[in-house]
Amino acid sequence: MLYQIDAEDRICHVNETWEDFAQENAGQALICARVLGQSLWDQICDATTRELYRQMVKRAREGHTVRFHYRCDAPDRRRLFRMTITPVGAGVVEFVSQLRREEVRPKVMLLDRLEQNRSEELVRICSWCEKAALPDGRWVPVEEGVEAMKLMQRERLPGLTHGICEHCKVRMLRQIERTVAGRKAV
Ligand SMILES: [Zn+2]
Repeated sequence: MLYQIDAEDRICHVNETWEDFAQENAGQALICARVLGQSLWDQICDATTRELYRQMVKRAREGHTVRFHYRCDAPDRRRLFRMTITPVGAGVVEFVSQLRREEVRPKVMLLDRLEQNRSEELVRICSWCEKAALPDGRWVPVEEGVEAMKLMQRERLPGLTHGICEHCKVRMLRQIERTVAGRKAV
């Protein structure tokens, strides 16, 4: 599945597979056709994630291919994707996402977007690895977070907000550095 941005960073193409996926999932930069013509930067809420994407788009326009793995889970499955960002000419940059691994698990209600009855409280999820932030600042696998915060014993589940954990931030900055040191895309 893929989408493209033009030289002014506006979303200029979204394929059908991406569209279907975006409707069923939440997470980072999930672009759908109704945002065609809009700036990519308006679609990414988290400031650090936006900055990382900016750097990657810059590398791509310099002629590099940028690759990274990220998680985009469904409530009942863990899913690992590989993103490949490549220049396709005239400032246009293409984002291709491929499912690499999928694993069924007991449903995590916290991640269920159909569950609308939420409290005002927000739990932060890393949109790169799907870990959840505990009140003390530690990031743990979402299932562990639900346990630790006793979320299932509450009357209503908290809402979700997305961010990036320290580990993913370091990992992505390294990845971007390596891209520059590596070979150019052909
Ligand atoms: Zn993370």
